[in-house]
Amino acid sequence: MNGSGIGDEICRRGFHHWFERQLIENHAYLVTAFLSPILLLAGFEAMDELRGSTVYYVAVVAVAAAAGTLMWVAWQRFCVLLVRAELFAESAGCPCCQAWGRFDVLAAEEIGGGDPPEAGRPHRLRVRCRRCGEQWRLG
Ligand SMILES: [Zn+2]
Repeated sequence: MNGSGIGDEICRRGFHHWFERQLIENHAYLVTAFLSPILLLAGFEAMDELRGSTVYYVAVVAVAAAAGTLMWVAWQRFCVLLVRAELFAESAGCPCCQAWGRFDVLAAEEIGGGDPPEAGRPHRLRVRCRRCGEQWRLG
C-alpha cells in the first residue's frame, strides 16, 4: 500500500477499518524497532567462532549498521504513524451529529513540504458525514 490513496482506502473499507489497520501496522514497526537489537545480539552470538578474524569484525560492523538503521527507520515510522492516526481519530467525529468515523471522503490534500516522506499520505481529507451530510476537514 503506497501513499496513492488514503482517501480511496477509507472510502473503500471505511474509516474504522483503516484506523484499525493503522494501529496494526504501527505495532509492527514498534516490534521491529525492539527486535532489531535482539537480532543484532543473536548475530554476534552466532559469529562467535569467527571471533578474531577480519571477517568477524567486518560482519559485526555491517550487522550493527544494518540493525541500527532498521531500528531507527522503524521507530521513525512508528512515531509518524502514531501521530497521524491520533490526529485522524481526534477529528473523525462529525462536528454536527458526533457520529464517529461515519463519513465519505470528498477530497484529499497532497502531502505538504513539511511532511516526513515516510508518512506517504496526505495531511488532510475533506469528508462528509453519512448521517447528516455535514462537511468538515479531517487531519
Ligand atoms: Zn453528522
